[in-house]
Amino acid sequence: MVKETGYYDLLGVRPGASLDEIKRAYRRLALRYHPDKNPSEGERFKQISQAYEVLSDAHKRALYDRGGERAMKEGGLGGRGGGSGFGSPMDIFDLFFGGGVRMRGRADRRGKTVVHQLSVSLEDLYNGSTRKLSLQKNIICRKCGGCGVREGAQRRCPKCHGSGMEVRIHQLGPSMIQQIQTVCSQCQGQGEWIRPRDCCLTCNGRKVVREKKILSVHLDKGMKDGQKITFHEEGDQVPGLEPGDIIIVLDQKEHPVFRRSGDDLIVRREISLADALCGCRQVIRTLDNRTLLVSSPPGDVIRPGDLKCIPNEGMPVYRSPFQKGKLILQFEVKFPEPGWLPTDRLRQLQGFFPPQEEVMATEDTEEVELSDYTAHGGPGRRPNTGEAYHEDDFEDGMRQHVQCQTS
Ligand SMILES: [Zn+2]
Ligand SMILES: [Zn+2]
Repeated sequence: MVKETGYYDLLGVRPGASLDEIKRAYRRLALRYHPDKNPSEGERFKQISQAYEVLSDAHKRALYDRGGERAMKEGGLGGRGGGSGFGSPMDIFDLFFGGGVRMRGRADRRGKTVVHQLSVSLEDLYNGSTRKLSLQKNIICRKCGGCGVREGAQRRCPKCHGSGMEVRIHQLGPSMIQQIQTVCSQCQGQGEWIRPRDCCLTCNGRKVVREKKILSVHLDKGMKDGQKITFHEEGDQVPGLEPGDIIIVLDQKEHPVFRRSGDDLIVRREISLADALCGCRQVIRTLDNRTLLVSSPPGDVIRPGDLKCIPNEGMPVYRSPFQKGKLILQFEVKFPEPGWLPTDRLRQLQGFFPPQEEVMATEDTEEVELSDYTAHGGPGRRPNTGEAYHEDDFEDGMRQHVQCQTS
């Protein structure tokens, strides 16, 4: 009964399929072969759209069922619009995915997301700031509105009337014809062909122009290294697509004084042994240029590597900037050089410390002196082993014992 099944085959449905079945088939295929997702399948997308356009319309479908594709060309589609042929696949797609459903398809219809890195200082992140970022992006030509042609000029390809396809009919015999459908040689299947003299002078027919764009990047107090700031729909504009996003990723430069750890700031301080024992005062210049005079409580002893902190002098908490982390001081103690005090004065100094435990030499002790140890090239050590004692230094029994412990 049905003359040709080509359109049904394209959608993968039976000739007797219901409208619902046809819609379902189109939705599935149109999303799969949409040029955004599948740029090499533009022709397939067009064919699917044409098949759907015919089969979803009861009148066109009846015409197609009776006379096949040829009947469509002759009386069905061509007759009405003065040879206009099929509608644009994109229009069919938009019409189909219009409204609520289209929101789901939105991600498939968007331009590329562009990622930029922005170098920021710790001061920027402490105080907050606004940075200007200059970049180049494509915007839709304002002169032609993104169509690429001069006002009033013809866009549709004259050869294929915008379908992107050419159909050649060969008479094979008195009652036999052969139709060959090929991609339009004039427009390469685009359906659009613009005479060089009709091109928009502003964009030279490219539909978009390159423009310098200044983005104001607002850095909130407490933002972190690696944090992303998204500028929605600020990516390259492409006709027919929603622009993608621009994503700015913060890259914090190393600070000469402070190191950040979450909301805390760490500062390394070297103090003298006297300060470590007797108490010390430190001046710290904050990231917002205040001066803090920090003193340790009298009687406190600071040991090498000790951590002390000042509450609420760290980084501001992101989105809660009145709250701050801790400022942590990491102390290194600088010891005096050998021979810094004459021996007699040392004995005096000793008087301030708790008495030492008396160690007496007896007949069976040998007196030895300590010398400086260096890891590399010292007597009896192998260079570059990274260990104070090489394995061979231990007796077998000792080694076994060590292995037992570690296993
Ligand atoms: Zn233009
Ligand atoms: Zn063409």
